[in-house]
Amino acid sequence: MSELPGRTDVLVVGAGPAGLAVGASLAGHGHDVTVVDRQLTGANTSRAAVVHARTLEMLEQIGVSKRLAGLGIQAQRFSIRDGDRELVPVRFDGLPTEYPYALMVPQNITEQVLLERLEELGGSVHRPYLATGVSQTADGAEVTLESGETIKARYVVAADGMNSTIRDQAGLGHNGNDSLSLSFALADVRVEGGLPADRVLLFFSTPGMLVVAPLPDGSFRLVAEVDEAPEQPDVAYAQRLLDTRGPRRTAVRVTDVIWGSRFRIHEQVADRYRAGRILLAGDAAHTHSPAGGQGMNLSLRDAVTLGDALSVALREGREDELDAYAAGSRAEAMRVVALAHRLTRLATAPRAVRPLRNVALRLLARVPSFRRRLAEQLSAIGHR
Ligand SMILES: Cc1cc2nc3c(=O)[nH]c(=O)nc-3n(C[C@H](O)[C@H](O)[C@H](O)COP(=O)(O)OP(=O)(O)OC[C@H]3O[C@@H](n4cnc5c(N)ncnc54)[C@H](O)[C@@H]3O)c2cc1C
Repeated sequence: MSELPGRTDVLVVGAGPAGLAVGASLAGHGHDVTVVDRQLTGANTSRAAVVHARTLEMLEQIGVSKRLAGLGIQAQRFSIRDGDRELVPVRFDGLPTEYPYALMVPQNITEQVLLERLEELGGSVHRPYLATGVSQTADGAEVTLESGETIKARYVVAADGMNSTIRDQAGLGHNGNDSLSLSFALADVRVEGGLPADRVLLFFSTPGMLVVAPLPDGSFRLVAEVDEAPEQPDVAYAQRLLDTRGPRRTAVRVTDVIWGSRFRIHEQVADRYRAGRILLAGDAAHTHSPAGGQGMNLSLRDAVTLGDALSVALREGREDELDAYAAGSRAEAMRVVALAHRLTRLATAPRAVRPLRNVALRLLARVPSFRRRLAEQLSAIGHR
Protein backbone atom coordinates (compact mmCIF):
# COMPACT_ATOMS: atom_id res chain seq x y z
CA MET A 1 0.00 0.00 0.00
CA SER A 2 1.13 3.56 -0.71
CA GLU A 3 2.35 5.75 2.15
CA LEU A 4 -0.14 7.94 3.98
CA PRO A 5 0.13 11.42 2.43
CA GLY A 6 0.26 14.60 4.52
CA ARG A 7 -1.73 16.47 1.90
CA THR A 8 -4.40 15.40 -0.59
CA ASP A 9 -7.16 16.96 -2.67
CA VAL A 10 -9.96 14.96 -1.03
CA LEU A 11 -9.70 12.98 2.19
CA VAL A 12 -12.48 10.42 2.63
CA VAL A 13 -12.91 9.21 6.21
CA GLY A 14 -14.51 5.75 6.21
CA ALA A 15 -14.27 2.90 3.70
CA GLY A 16 -17.80 1.53 3.89
CA PRO A 17 -19.90 1.56 0.71
CA ALA A 18 -20.22 5.39 0.71
CA GLY A 19 -16.50 6.11 1.23
CA LEU A 20 -15.36 3.49 -1.29
CA ALA A 21 -17.79 4.81 -3.92
CA VAL A 22 -16.78 8.47 -3.39
CA GLY A 23 -13.15 7.35 -3.63
CA ALA A 24 -13.75 5.40 -6.86
CA SER A 25 -15.72 8.28 -8.36
CA LEU A 26 -12.97 10.83 -7.65
CA ALA A 27 -10.19 8.48 -8.77
CA GLY A 28 -12.18 7.89 -11.97
CA HIS A 29 -12.37 11.65 -12.53
CA GLY A 30 -8.58 11.75 -12.20
CA HIS A 31 -8.34 13.44 -8.78
CA ASP A 32 -5.97 12.85 -5.92
CA VAL A 33 -8.10 11.13 -3.27
CA THR A 34 -7.10 9.47 0.01
CA VAL A 35 -9.37 7.04 1.85
CA VAL A 36 -8.73 6.08 5.50
CA ASP A 37 -10.56 3.61 7.73
CA ARG A 38 -10.17 2.73 11.37
CA GLN A 39 -10.55 -1.03 10.81
CA LEU A 40 -7.61 -3.25 9.94
CA THR A 41 -9.66 -5.03 7.24
CA GLY A 42 -13.02 -4.50 5.58
CA ALA A 43 -16.09 -5.98 7.31
CA ASN A 44 -17.01 -9.42 5.99
CA THR A 45 -20.68 -9.70 7.03
CA SER A 46 -23.69 -9.60 4.73
CA ARG A 47 -25.57 -6.60 6.31
CA ALA A 48 -27.33 -4.68 3.48
CA ALA A 49 -28.39 -7.38 1.05
CA VAL A 50 -30.22 -5.53 -1.72
CA VAL A 51 -29.12 -3.08 -4.39
CA HIS A 52 -31.99 -1.39 -6.19
CA ALA A 53 -32.37 -0.40 -9.86
CA ARG A 54 -31.73 3.34 -9.53
CA THR A 55 -28.57 2.69 -7.52
CA LEU A 56 -27.29 0.34 -10.23
CA GLU A 57 -28.03 3.00 -12.85
CA MET A 58 -25.98 5.52 -10.91
CA LEU A 59 -23.15 3.09 -10.15
CA GLU A 60 -22.61 2.82 -13.93
CA GLN A 61 -20.77 6.13 -13.59
CA ILE A 62 -18.06 4.42 -11.58
CA GLY A 63 -18.10 1.28 -13.69
CA VAL A 64 -19.29 -1.36 -11.22
CA SER A 65 -22.96 -2.04 -12.09
CA LYS A 66 -22.45 -4.86 -14.57
CA ARG A 67 -19.93 -6.56 -12.30
CA LEU A 68 -22.25 -6.33 -9.30
CA ALA A 69 -25.28 -7.46 -11.31
CA GLY A 70 -23.40 -10.62 -12.25
CA LEU A 71 -22.73 -11.49 -8.62
CA GLY A 72 -26.24 -11.34 -7.21
CA ILE A 73 -29.72 -12.77 -7.62
CA GLN A 74 -31.82 -10.64 -9.95
CA ALA A 75 -35.15 -10.79 -8.10
CA GLN A 76 -37.86 -9.51 -10.43
CA ARG A 77 -40.62 -9.85 -7.87
CA PHE A 78 -41.37 -8.72 -4.38
CA SER A 79 -44.43 -10.17 -2.76
CA ILE A 80 -46.29 -9.10 0.39
CA ARG A 81 -48.05 -12.13 1.85
CA ASP A 82 -50.12 -13.40 4.72
CA GLY A 83 -49.09 -17.06 5.02
CA ASP A 84 -49.58 -18.52 1.54
CA ARG A 85 -51.96 -15.83 0.35
CA GLU A 86 -50.47 -13.03 -1.73
CA LEU A 87 -51.68 -9.59 -0.65
CA VAL A 88 -49.59 -7.34 -2.91
CA PRO A 89 -47.54 -8.56 -5.88
CA VAL A 90 -44.87 -6.01 -6.79
CA ARG A 91 -43.08 -6.47 -10.10
CA PHE A 92 -39.80 -4.82 -10.92
CA ASP A 93 -39.61 -6.40 -14.39
CA GLY A 94 -41.85 -3.72 -15.91
CA LEU A 95 -39.69 -0.83 -14.73
CA PRO A 96 -38.16 1.39 -17.44
CA THR A 97 -34.53 0.59 -16.60
CA GLU A 98 -31.68 -1.60 -17.72
CA TYR A 99 -31.85 -3.21 -14.26
CA PRO A 100 -35.51 -4.31 -13.86
CA TYR A 101 -34.98 -6.19 -10.60
CA ALA A 102 -33.86 -5.92 -6.98
CA LEU A 103 -30.32 -7.28 -6.89
CA MET A 104 -29.78 -9.54 -3.89
CA VAL A 105 -26.10 -9.35 -3.02
CA PRO A 106 -24.43 -9.22 0.42
CA GLN A 107 -22.76 -5.98 1.47
CA ASN A 108 -19.31 -7.55 1.84
CA ILE A 109 -19.40 -8.46 -1.87
CA THR A 110 -20.61 -4.97 -2.82
CA GLU A 111 -17.76 -3.48 -0.80
CA GLN A 112 -15.27 -5.89 -2.40
CA VAL A 113 -16.37 -4.83 -5.89
CA LEU A 114 -16.11 -1.14 -4.95
CA LEU A 115 -12.65 -1.65 -3.42
CA GLU A 116 -11.43 -3.50 -6.51
CA ARG A 117 -12.68 -0.65 -8.68
CA LEU A 118 -10.98 1.96 -6.48
CA GLU A 119 -7.73 0.02 -6.74
CA GLU A 120 -8.06 -0.43 -10.52
CA LEU A 121 -8.31 3.35 -10.74
CA GLY A 122 -5.10 3.77 -8.75
CA GLY A 123 -6.63 4.41 -5.30
CA SER A 124 -6.33 2.45 -2.06
CA VAL A 125 -7.60 2.37 1.53
CA HIS A 126 -5.17 3.28 4.31
CA ARG A 127 -5.81 1.15 7.42
CA PRO A 128 -6.07 1.15 10.39
CA TYR A 129 -6.33 4.93 10.87
CA LEU A 130 -8.88 6.32 13.29
CA ALA A 131 -9.82 9.94 12.61
CA THR A 132 -10.23 11.79 15.88
CA GLY A 133 -10.54 15.44 14.91
CA VAL A 134 -11.20 17.85 12.05
CA SER A 135 -10.79 21.59 11.66
CA GLN A 136 -11.38 24.01 8.80
CA THR A 137 -8.32 25.81 7.42
CA ALA A 138 -7.97 28.81 5.11
CA ASP A 139 -8.00 26.66 1.98
CA GLY A 140 -9.49 23.36 3.13
CA ALA A 141 -9.67 21.20 6.23
CA GLU A 142 -7.28 19.19 8.37
CA VAL A 143 -7.98 15.79 9.91
CA THR A 144 -6.11 14.46 12.92
CA LEU A 145 -5.57 10.73 13.28
CA GLU A 146 -5.22 8.79 16.51
CA SER A 147 -1.76 7.73 15.31
CA GLY A 148 -0.69 11.38 15.69
CA GLU A 149 -0.48 12.15 11.97
CA THR A 150 -2.50 14.92 10.33
CA ILE A 151 -3.75 15.13 6.75
CA LYS A 152 -4.55 18.42 5.03
CA ALA A 153 -7.13 18.28 2.28
CA ARG A 154 -8.96 20.72 0.03
CA TYR A 155 -12.14 18.82 0.96
CA VAL A 156 -13.00 16.22 3.59
CA VAL A 157 -15.81 13.68 3.14
CA ALA A 158 -17.31 12.27 6.33
CA ALA A 159 -18.29 8.74 5.29
CA ASP A 160 -17.62 7.37 8.77
CA GLY A 161 -21.04 5.88 9.39
CA MET A 162 -23.89 6.38 11.80
CA ASN A 163 -21.76 7.52 14.76
CA SER A 164 -19.67 9.85 12.62
CA THR A 165 -16.92 11.70 14.50
CA ILE A 166 -16.27 14.08 11.62
CA ARG A 167 -19.97 15.03 11.37
CA ASP A 168 -20.20 15.77 15.07
CA GLN A 169 -16.98 17.76 15.15
CA ALA A 170 -18.04 19.77 12.12
CA GLY A 171 -21.28 20.69 13.88
CA LEU A 172 -23.41 18.85 11.32
CA GLY A 173 -25.63 16.97 13.76
CA HIS A 174 -29.30 16.18 13.48
CA ASN A 175 -32.24 17.50 15.40
CA GLY A 176 -32.47 14.34 17.47
CA ASN A 177 -35.93 13.50 16.23
CA ASP A 178 -36.00 9.70 16.50
CA SER A 179 -39.60 8.65 16.42
CA LEU A 180 -39.45 4.87 15.92
CA SER A 181 -38.18 2.53 18.59
CA LEU A 182 -38.38 -1.04 17.36
CA SER A 183 -36.25 -4.13 17.83
CA PHE A 184 -35.31 -6.37 14.87
CA ALA A 185 -33.75 -9.83 14.66
CA LEU A 186 -31.71 -10.73 11.59
CA ALA A 187 -30.48 -14.18 10.52
CA ASP A 188 -28.91 -15.57 7.34
CA VAL A 189 -29.98 -19.23 7.29
CA ARG A 190 -29.64 -22.41 5.30
CA VAL A 191 -32.88 -24.31 4.85
CA GLU A 192 -34.30 -27.52 3.46
CA GLY A 193 -37.62 -27.05 1.74
CA GLY A 194 -39.33 -24.81 -0.69
CA LEU A 195 -38.45 -21.17 -0.21
CA PRO A 196 -38.35 -19.45 -3.61
CA ALA A 197 -34.85 -18.44 -4.69
CA ASP A 198 -35.98 -15.80 -7.19
CA ARG A 199 -38.11 -13.35 -5.19
CA VAL A 200 -38.28 -11.43 -1.95
CA LEU A 201 -41.17 -12.29 0.38
CA LEU A 202 -42.52 -9.97 3.05
CA PHE A 203 -44.93 -11.76 5.37
CA PHE A 204 -47.55 -9.58 7.07
CA SER A 205 -48.80 -12.28 9.44
CA THR A 206 -50.82 -11.73 12.61
CA PRO A 207 -47.91 -12.71 14.96
CA GLY A 208 -45.65 -10.17 13.20
CA MET A 209 -43.74 -9.30 10.04
CA LEU A 210 -40.99 -11.41 8.47
CA VAL A 211 -38.80 -10.74 5.45
CA VAL A 212 -37.46 -13.80 3.59
CA ALA A 213 -34.95 -12.90 0.89
CA PRO A 214 -32.70 -15.19 -1.18
CA LEU A 215 -28.92 -14.65 -1.16
CA PRO A 216 -26.58 -15.74 -3.96
CA ASP A 217 -24.89 -18.51 -1.94
CA GLY A 218 -28.23 -20.36 -1.61
CA SER A 219 -28.95 -19.08 1.90
CA PHE A 220 -31.87 -16.87 2.95
CA ARG A 221 -31.97 -13.61 4.89
CA LEU A 222 -34.65 -13.47 7.60
CA VAL A 223 -35.55 -10.14 9.23
CA ALA A 224 -38.31 -9.87 11.83
CA GLU A 225 -39.59 -7.21 14.17
CA VAL A 226 -39.72 -8.73 17.65
CA ASP A 227 -40.23 -7.54 21.22
CA GLU A 228 -36.69 -8.36 22.30
CA ALA A 229 -34.25 -9.70 19.72
CA PRO A 230 -31.63 -12.23 20.89
CA GLU A 231 -28.02 -11.16 20.54
CA GLN A 232 -27.37 -14.17 18.32
CA PRO A 233 -30.44 -15.97 16.88
CA ASP A 234 -29.99 -19.78 16.77
CA VAL A 235 -31.58 -22.44 14.55
CA ALA A 236 -34.57 -22.92 16.87
CA TYR A 237 -35.25 -19.17 16.95
CA ALA A 238 -35.09 -18.86 13.15
CA GLN A 239 -37.28 -21.96 12.77
CA ARG A 240 -39.89 -20.46 15.09
CA LEU A 241 -39.97 -17.24 13.05
CA LEU A 242 -40.63 -19.21 9.87
CA ASP A 243 -43.17 -21.51 11.51
CA THR A 244 -45.22 -18.73 13.08
CA ARG A 245 -44.90 -16.02 10.43
CA GLY A 246 -43.85 -17.67 7.15
CA PRO A 247 -45.47 -19.98 4.60
CA ARG A 248 -48.06 -22.46 5.93
CA ARG A 249 -48.34 -25.20 3.30
CA THR A 250 -44.64 -25.50 2.53
CA ALA A 251 -42.50 -27.28 5.12
CA VAL A 252 -39.24 -25.41 5.59
CA ARG A 253 -36.55 -26.72 7.93
CA VAL A 254 -33.76 -24.43 9.10
CA THR A 255 -30.49 -26.37 9.17
CA ASP A 256 -27.95 -23.67 9.94
CA VAL A 257 -27.64 -20.02 10.98
CA ILE A 258 -24.66 -18.61 9.06
CA TRP A 259 -24.76 -15.13 10.55
CA GLY A 260 -27.12 -13.35 12.89
CA SER A 261 -27.49 -9.96 14.44
CA ARG A 262 -29.97 -7.60 16.02
CA PHE A 263 -30.56 -3.90 15.72
CA ARG A 264 -32.80 -1.04 16.76
CA ILE A 265 -34.06 1.57 14.40
CA HIS A 266 -32.84 5.15 14.47
CA GLU A 267 -34.49 7.70 12.23
CA GLN A 268 -32.25 10.69 11.71
CA VAL A 269 -31.19 13.03 8.92
CA ALA A 270 -28.42 15.59 9.45
CA ASP A 271 -29.72 19.15 9.43
CA ARG A 272 -27.06 20.12 6.88
CA TYR A 273 -24.73 18.04 4.70
CA ARG A 274 -22.03 20.69 4.29
CA ALA A 275 -19.94 22.87 6.59
CA GLY A 276 -17.41 24.76 4.47
CA ARG A 277 -14.95 22.17 3.14
CA ILE A 278 -16.51 19.23 5.00
CA LEU A 279 -19.28 17.15 3.42
CA LEU A 280 -21.37 14.26 4.67
CA ALA A 281 -22.27 11.08 2.78
CA GLY A 282 -23.97 7.80 3.69
CA ASP A 283 -25.01 6.78 7.19
CA ALA A 284 -23.10 9.76 8.58
CA ALA A 285 -25.86 11.84 7.03
CA HIS A 286 -28.91 9.61 7.50
CA THR A 287 -30.16 6.46 9.20
CA HIS A 288 -33.61 4.94 9.18
CA SER A 289 -35.63 1.73 9.26
CA PRO A 290 -34.37 -1.15 7.09
CA ALA A 291 -37.86 -1.54 5.56
CA GLY A 292 -37.49 -1.61 1.79
CA GLY A 293 -33.69 -2.08 2.05
CA GLN A 294 -32.93 1.59 1.34
CA GLY A 295 -30.01 2.56 3.64
CA MET A 296 -26.99 1.43 1.67
CA ASN A 297 -28.69 2.39 -1.59
CA LEU A 298 -29.13 5.96 -0.46
CA SER A 299 -25.50 5.98 0.72
CA LEU A 300 -24.24 4.82 -2.68
CA ARG A 301 -26.35 7.37 -4.54
CA ASP A 302 -25.02 10.14 -2.25
CA ALA A 303 -21.50 8.97 -3.03
CA VAL A 304 -21.81 9.07 -6.82
CA THR A 305 -23.49 12.50 -6.76
CA LEU A 306 -20.90 13.86 -4.32
CA GLY A 307 -17.97 12.48 -6.37
CA ASP A 308 -19.25 14.36 -9.44
CA ALA A 309 -19.89 17.56 -7.45
CA LEU A 310 -16.44 17.50 -5.86
CA SER A 311 -14.85 16.95 -9.26
CA VAL A 312 -16.51 20.11 -10.61
CA ALA A 313 -15.53 22.04 -7.46
CA LEU A 314 -11.90 20.89 -7.75
CA ARG A 315 -11.60 21.61 -11.46
CA GLU A 316 -13.65 24.77 -11.80
CA GLY A 317 -13.87 26.10 -8.25
CA ARG A 318 -17.65 25.86 -8.47
CA GLU A 319 -18.80 25.34 -4.92
CA ASP A 320 -22.45 25.79 -5.95
CA GLU A 321 -22.26 22.16 -7.09
CA LEU A 322 -21.51 21.16 -3.48
CA ASP A 323 -24.49 23.15 -2.22
CA ALA A 324 -26.66 21.47 -4.86
CA TYR A 325 -25.41 18.07 -3.65
CA ALA A 326 -26.09 18.98 -0.02
CA ALA A 327 -29.63 20.20 -0.71
CA GLY A 328 -30.58 17.55 -3.28
CA SER A 329 -29.26 14.54 -1.40
CA ARG A 330 -30.80 15.71 1.86
CA ALA A 331 -34.17 16.11 0.11
CA GLU A 332 -33.85 12.58 -1.27
CA ALA A 333 -32.97 11.26 2.20
CA MET A 334 -36.10 12.88 3.62
CA ARG A 335 -38.21 11.10 0.97
CA VAL A 336 -36.51 7.75 1.63
CA VAL A 337 -36.83 8.07 5.42
CA ALA A 338 -40.52 8.88 5.00
CA LEU A 339 -41.01 5.82 2.76
CA ALA A 340 -39.18 3.50 5.17
CA HIS A 341 -41.20 4.97 8.04
CA ARG A 342 -44.53 4.31 6.26
CA LEU A 343 -43.51 0.76 5.35
CA THR A 344 -42.38 0.10 8.91
CA ARG A 345 -45.58 1.44 10.42
CA LEU A 346 -47.59 -0.72 8.03
CA ALA A 347 -45.48 -3.81 8.72
CA THR A 348 -45.60 -3.34 12.51
CA ALA A 349 -49.23 -2.22 12.87
CA PRO A 350 -50.81 -3.16 16.23
CA ARG A 351 -51.79 -6.83 16.34
CA ALA A 352 -55.52 -6.11 16.55
CA VAL A 353 -55.60 -4.21 13.25
CA ARG A 354 -53.36 -6.60 11.27
CA PRO A 355 -56.22 -8.66 9.75
CA LEU A 356 -58.00 -5.46 8.66
CA ARG A 357 -54.74 -4.04 7.27
CA ASN A 358 -54.31 -7.16 5.16
CA VAL A 359 -57.84 -6.95 3.74
CA ALA A 360 -57.28 -3.28 2.87
CA LEU A 361 -53.94 -4.08 1.21
CA ARG A 362 -55.47 -6.83 -0.94
CA LEU A 363 -58.09 -4.39 -2.17
CA LEU A 364 -55.53 -1.66 -2.84
CA ALA A 365 -53.31 -4.11 -4.71
CA ARG A 366 -56.03 -4.51 -7.35
CA VAL A 367 -55.21 -0.98 -8.48
CA PRO A 368 -52.34 -1.29 -11.01
CA SER A 369 -51.05 2.26 -10.33
CA PHE A 370 -50.63 1.41 -6.62
CA ARG A 371 -48.48 -1.62 -7.44
CA ARG A 372 -46.50 0.30 -10.04
CA ARG A 373 -45.87 3.21 -7.68
CA LEU A 374 -44.65 0.86 -4.97
CA ALA A 375 -42.15 -0.69 -7.43
CA GLU A 376 -41.01 2.79 -8.51
CA GLN A 377 -40.51 3.93 -4.93
CA LEU A 378 -38.69 0.82 -3.74
CA SER A 379 -36.38 0.79 -6.75
CA ALA A 380 -36.03 4.63 -6.50
CA ILE A 381 -36.70 4.80 -10.24
CA GLY A 382 -39.43 7.25 -9.23
CA HIS A 383 -36.73 9.59 -7.81
CA ARG A 384 -35.01 10.16 -11.14
C1 LIG B 1 -26.62 -5.67 11.11
C2 LIG B 1 -26.87 -4.71 10.00
C3 LIG B 1 -27.79 -5.01 9.02
C4 LIG B 1 -28.09 -4.10 8.02
N1 LIG B 1 -28.99 -4.44 7.07
C5 LIG B 1 -29.26 -3.56 6.09
C6 LIG B 1 -30.17 -3.88 5.05
O1 LIG B 1 -30.73 -4.98 5.00
N2 LIG B 1 -30.42 -2.96 4.08
C7 LIG B 1 -29.79 -1.72 4.08
O2 LIG B 1 -30.00 -0.91 3.16
N3 LIG B 1 -28.91 -1.39 5.04
C8 LIG B 1 -28.64 -2.27 6.04
N4 LIG B 1 -27.75 -1.94 6.99
C9 LIG B 1 -27.16 -0.61 6.95
C10 LIG B 1 -26.04 -0.54 5.96
O3 LIG B 1 -25.06 -1.48 6.37
C11 LIG B 1 -25.53 0.89 5.96
O4 LIG B 1 -26.58 1.74 5.48
C12 LIG B 1 -24.31 1.09 5.08
O5 LIG B 1 -23.24 0.30 5.51
C13 LIG B 1 -23.90 2.57 5.08
O6 LIG B 1 -22.68 2.73 4.45
P1 LIG B 1 -21.67 3.86 4.90
O7 LIG B 1 -20.49 3.70 4.00
O8 LIG B 1 -22.34 5.17 4.95
O9 LIG B 1 -21.28 3.55 6.42
P2 LIG B 1 -20.59 2.27 7.08
O10 LIG B 1 -20.83 1.05 6.28
O11 LIG B 1 -20.98 2.28 8.50
O12 LIG B 1 -19.04 2.57 6.96
C14 LIG B 1 -18.38 3.51 7.78
C15 LIG B 1 -16.90 3.20 7.78
O13 LIG B 1 -16.23 4.23 8.48
C16 LIG B 1 -15.26 3.66 9.34
N5 LIG B 1 -15.07 4.62 10.44
C17 LIG B 1 -15.98 4.96 11.37
N6 LIG B 1 -15.49 5.91 12.18
C18 LIG B 1 -14.24 6.17 11.74
C19 LIG B 1 -13.24 7.09 12.15
N7 LIG B 1 -13.42 7.94 13.17
N8 LIG B 1 -12.06 7.09 11.49
C20 LIG B 1 -11.86 6.26 10.44
N9 LIG B 1 -12.78 5.38 9.99
C21 LIG B 1 -13.96 5.36 10.63
C22 LIG B 1 -15.82 2.33 9.77
O14 LIG B 1 -14.81 1.43 10.13
C23 LIG B 1 -16.56 1.89 8.50
O15 LIG B 1 -15.75 1.09 7.66
C24 LIG B 1 -27.43 -2.84 8.00
C25 LIG B 1 -26.48 -2.55 8.96
C26 LIG B 1 -26.19 -3.47 9.96
C27 LIG B 1 -25.15 -3.13 11.00
